[in-house]
Amino acid sequence: MNNNNLEEKPINFIRHQINDDLDSGLHSAIQTRFPPEPNGYLHIGHAKSICLNFGLAQDYKGKCILRFDDTNPAKEELEFIESIKNDVQWLGFNWNGKVRYSSDYFAKFYQYAIELVNKGLAYVCFLDAQQTREYRGTLKQAGKNSPYRDTPVAKNLLLLEQMKQGKFLEGECVLRAKIDMASPFMCMRDPTLYRIRFDKHHQTGNAWRIYPMYDFAHCISDALEGVTHSLCTLEFQDNRRLYDWILEHLEDFNKASRPHQYEFSRLNLKYTVMSKRKLQQLVERRLVSDWNDPRMPTLSGLRRRGYTPNSIRDFAERVGISKVDAMTDMKILEDAVRDDLNVVAPRTMGVINPIKLIIENYPKNQIETLKAPIHPQNKAMGEREIFFSKELYIDKADFAEVSPNKKFKRLAIGKEVRLRNAYVINATTFDTDSNGNVSTVYATYDPNTLGKNPADGRKVKGVIHFVEATQAIEAEFRLYERLFTLENPSKNEHFEQLINPNSLIIAYGVVEPNMQDVAPETAYQFEREGYFCRDNESADDLVFNKTVALKDTWGLGRG
Ligand code: ATP
Ligand code: MG
Repeated sequence: MNNNNLEEKPINFIRHQINDDLDSGLHSAIQTRFPPEPNGYLHIGHAKSICLNFGLAQDYKGKCILRFDDTNPAKEELEFIESIKNDVQWLGFNWNGKVRYSSDYFAKFYQYAIELVNKGLAYVCFLDAQQTREYRGTLKQAGKNSPYRDTPVAKNLLLLEQMKQGKFLEGECVLRAKIDMASPFMCMRDPTLYRIRFDKHHQTGNAWRIYPMYDFAHCISDALEGVTHSLCTLEFQDNRRLYDWILEHLEDFNKASRPHQYEFSRLNLKYTVMSKRKLQQLVERRLVSDWNDPRMPTLSGLRRRGYTPNSIRDFAERVGISKVDAMTDMKILEDAVRDDLNVVAPRTMGVINPIKLIIENYPKNQIETLKAPIHPQNKAMGEREIFFSKELYIDKADFAEVSPNKKFKRLAIGKEVRLRNAYVINATTFDTDSNGNVSTVYATYDPNTLGKNPADGRKVKGVIHFVEATQAIEAEFRLYERLFTLENPSKNEHFEQLINPNSLIIAYGVVEPNMQDVAPETAYQFEREGYFCRDNESADDLVFNKTVALKDTWGLGRG
C-alpha cells in the first residue's frame, strides 16, 4: 500500500487493479483523466466519473487531467466548455496542468493514421452509408470485405491526403482500419477512423476538413498524455478491443506501460433523465427554464437547488463503483444532502402559506425581541434575534378549526401549542375570507411560558413556527417535486409528456427580517419546512429554492 489514507476508502475493482499495477512496478504513479464532450452541461452521472477519476488521483498522489473530447466540430460549444470547467472546480477538484483538448493532437492523430496506412492497416473507403451498413453484417452474420480494402498503400496515402485537403465531399469517403470483417465484436469490423466534416471547429477553425472518430482519438490522447488507467462506462466494453488494437499497432505506444481501459457502470437515477441529448431537449422545448433549472439533474441545477459539493461527493461514495447496471433511488442523493445540511445549515423561520395570528391579550404597539439558537445542536453557531408582537404569521396548514385526529400536534380552537422559540398560545376563534378560507386566527398567549413549560404542569405537545408581522419580509418559495411521473422516463419515446405538472409549485410567504441579505446558494433550514437556499438567478428578489424536505418524503412524491 503506497498511501495511508487509502485504507479508509472502500476497495473496488479499479483500486485493486491500481494496487496491482503499482505493486508489480508496471507504473510508479497513476494518471487518470476526465474526458467530457463539450456538447452540454455536466450532470450527476458525470459527477460520479469526476469523483472517481479525480478522487483516485488524489488518493494515490497521481495526476488527473481535464480533456475536452472535441472531435465533433458540429455539436460543440464554448458555453459548454466554460460551464464544465466551472462545475469541476465547484465540485472541489483541480486538474493537473492546463486544460487539454483532443483537438490539440489533430496533427499527431493524422501522423498516426499515416503510420497505419503505411503498415497496410488502414484504407480509404468509398462505400456510402447504406452500403457500409450492408457490408458490416449482423451479430449473427459475418460482414463482407469492402471492395476498397485492398487499395495499394501508395494510393491510400494519396487519397488520405486529398481527404485532408478537402478534395472530397462530406460523406464521400472515410478512412477505415483494416481489422476483421468477421469479428464477433462489431466495432472491430473495419471501423471508421476519420470522416470528412466541413463545419468550423471552435478550437481549430477551418484548419481541418477531416475529423478523427472517438475510438481513434481517445486511446491516442490517453497515450500521449501518459494516462495509465482510462476509466469509462460499460457501453465501451467492446470498444476496449479497438482501444488496444490501435495502441498495439502504433510504434510509440506498443509497450506494457501504455494506458489500459477499465469500465464501470453508469449512474442512472430514478424519475429523471441523464443523457445530455435528452436534457437538451428539455431545455429546447422549454419544459424546464434552462440547463440550471433546479429540477434538472445537472450539476448547475443541483447547485442552484442548494446541493453542496460535499453532498454530491458523499453521494458518489455512497453509490460506489461496480460493473452492475442499476437504477439508483433518488433517496440516496437526498439523504446525502440532508446529512450534510443538517450539520451546517443555520436555522430560521419562514411561513410559506401565511395566515394572520392575532394575540388578543398582547399589548398593542409593542414589539418584543427574543433570542433563538442558530443551530439547536451547535451552540457555537450563536443566536439570532427574532420578534414577537400582537400580530404574527403562521402557516395555513398549522391551523384546523377542530383537531382532525389525536396525532394533530398543531393549533386548533381550544388547543394549546407552543410558538417555536416563543410562548404557548391557545386559539379562541377565527375569520374566513369570501371563499370560506381561514384568513385570521385569534389566540391568547401565556406570558409565563417563554423558554419554560406552563407552571401548572399543563402538557403542551405541539410546536409551530411563526414570523412576526410588522418585521416580516416577503419572499417567494419554489417547491420542487420529481421532474417526471415515471420511474424510468428514458424508456418512453415521448418522455417529455411525462413531466410532473407539480414539479414546481410557487408560493408567496414571509421570512425573518435577517434573511433580507443572505447570499445565494447558502443553505438554511426553515424550521419544520425543509432546507432551502436563496436562488442564484434572482438577485433582486428574495426567492428561496427548496433543496430537500427535513425527512424522507420521497415515497409521497415530494422532494
Ligand atoms: P451523455 O450520454 O450524458 O452525453 P456521455 O458519456 O456522452 O454522456 P461524455 O461527456 O462523453 O458524456 O462523458 C464524460 C465522461 O463522463 C465519460 O468518461 C463518461 O463515461 C462519464 N459519464 C457520462 N455519463 C455518466 C453516468 N451517467 N455515470 C457515470 N459516468 C458517466
Ligand atoms: Mg457523449
